[in-house]
Amino acid sequence: MSLDPDTLGMILTALREFAAGRFPDQRLLDLDEKDEAPVEDLRAMCGEDLGIHLLFLPEEYGGMGGGTFDVYRVSEQLARIDVGIATGVSVGSLGSDVISRGGTAQQQKEWLTRIANEGLLFAYGATEPEAGSDLGALATTAVPVVEDGNVVGYRITGKKQWISNGGIADAYSILANAPGGPTWFVIDAGVPGFEHGKPEDKQGLRTSNTAALFLEDVFVNVDRRVGEAEGQGLLVAQTVFGYSRLMVAALGLGAGWAALERAIPYSVTRIQAGGPLSEKQGYTHKLIVPHVVRLEAARSYIEESAERIDAGEGWLNTEGAIAKFMATEAGHAAADASIQALGGYGYTRDYMVEKITRDVRITRIFEGTSEIMEMTIARDRWQEHLKSHGRYYQDEAARMETLHTSDPDVGADVAALGFRALAEVLERARVGRLTRNQHVLFRLGELIAYSECAGSLSRRAARSAGGELHPKADRRFGAPVLAALARIFARVAALKVAQDGLLWIVATAGPAGKDLGALQQALRLPAIQVAQAGFLADMDYVADVLYGRAAG
Ligand SMILES: Cc1cc2nc3c(=O)[nH]c(=O)nc-3n(C[C@H](O)[C@H](O)[C@H](O)COP(=O)(O)OP(=O)(O)OC[C@H]3O[C@@H](n4cnc5c(N)ncnc54)[C@H](O)[C@@H]3O)c2cc1C
Repeated sequence: MSLDPDTLGMILTALREFAAGRFPDQRLLDLDEKDEAPVEDLRAMCGEDLGIHLLFLPEEYGGMGGGTFDVYRVSEQLARIDVGIATGVSVGSLGSDVISRGGTAQQQKEWLTRIANEGLLFAYGATEPEAGSDLGALATTAVPVVEDGNVVGYRITGKKQWISNGGIADAYSILANAPGGPTWFVIDAGVPGFEHGKPEDKQGLRTSNTAALFLEDVFVNVDRRVGEAEGQGLLVAQTVFGYSRLMVAALGLGAGWAALERAIPYSVTRIQAGGPLSEKQGYTHKLIVPHVVRLEAARSYIEESAERIDAGEGWLNTEGAIAKFMATEAGHAAADASIQALGGYGYTRDYMVEKITRDVRITRIFEGTSEIMEMTIARDRWQEHLKSHGRYYQDEAARMETLHTSDPDVGADVAALGFRALAEVLERARVGRLTRNQHVLFRLGELIAYSECAGSLSRRAARSAGGELHPKADRRFGAPVLAALARIFARVAALKVAQDGLLWIVATAGPAGKDLGALQQALRLPAIQVAQAGFLADMDYVADVLYGRAAG
């Protein structure tokens, strides 16, 4: 299930044109100020005017059958327009995803066809006041209604919190505790006992409607229970995650780039101390270049994971967590740096970067917070480390060393050093039982995410050089630039792993004393420090490309 590159290109163009007509900056600023979701525009996007909702639906039910890669590209594009509007569209798709993943054949046919034909707007109702990161604490109940010994329906009672599209959706996927365990139900808007709260007054994302939902003895027919049986709810939520987290990762990526695309041209025209800011290294190498590097490292990981999901490797939940963590943290950091890059103007509403920063902030929270991502990544890869008797990242390092022999310019040798350091940190954590400290476990999650993105960016640069990029991959940068980006990120990641890893080993074990030198060697710290040679020259080159002073 996937679009051909031309069709994807046409959709991206149509989306850009639609946005240019409907969402000029001033309109978005007005909506933001009024705290208003543009419901009519959302309906036009998910209706005959644009039909973007069809991307998320299988062809057999009248959709376009977009794959994960397509969803990433479109989600990034949506976020470049506005993260709130992107949320309205993509959360709608999550609501219907529950049916795509967990529904019976009959439910899929009925609902997905209706969504395709009628452009029904969905909401996804999992979170509750007391059940956020821990969905197991779910308190909403679904009590079976039994007639003649058969379950004919359910009565649902509870409260949902922070539901996107909560006040504007036509239909809601709601997670509730049935006797057999957590189960999804589809509920129509406006049925007796079902109400929503007023729109939440949020820091950002004000063009997206977010509301609490109140369910008081809401009756649904048994055919509104998603799936053949009760108790599949958390499993369905899990299968949605690999893909939905890539989607939110794409929102972080798009918003981060949207901000940088305002900061970069601004710095060309802004003259300070006799010259444009774009020519001042202290400016570009802090506020622009590192953020481009981080975003592109995250993009590589998103693209690789999307390609693997589309190739049928499963839902790749750990990879989804890494992609989300890296892209949303990078997106928020890039947007915040863009405020700084515009100085006082950046801090005012008119220049948009302030709004983008408030908007992208949510991507670090919803669909699993950054901390929950760190925990997921660390726990999952910890298992791989144990199962492989410490070989997991040693093998990854060996693959990077092989890549370095064929492609010596893509930073794979440094990425390999990072993986060797990571394997050492994990092994010392195992022997010293360091992950008894939750903080250390979470920090390991971050180090793993950095290392894996470094490897991914090196591979992307090598594929680009060999003319083997995915046909639908982003092609903003050519092979030499990707190679420079990969070298920069590999150095950053390897140094972070070795330095932070050393810190956490020493911090948990007490003073390392005479062993500190040996520990630094084991973590390849001296070699990683030596590998920093050339770092500034690569930063200079990337800056030159971004400002059109060198070919990219
Ligand atoms: C604007 C917006 C839109 C949203 N849209 C939707 C939607 O459409 N559908 C939906 O179902 N939900 C939605 N959400 C809910 C969102 O997914 C949750 O807010 C998120 O999962 C976090 O849950 P929480 O807010 O209860 O925070 P909590 O889980 O209470 O977390 C608070 C803090 O504690 C940390 N933390 C949590 N657990 C642990 C732990 N075990 N160890 C260490 N630290 C921990 C978290 O990282 C966080 O920093 C939305 C939220 C917002 C704000």
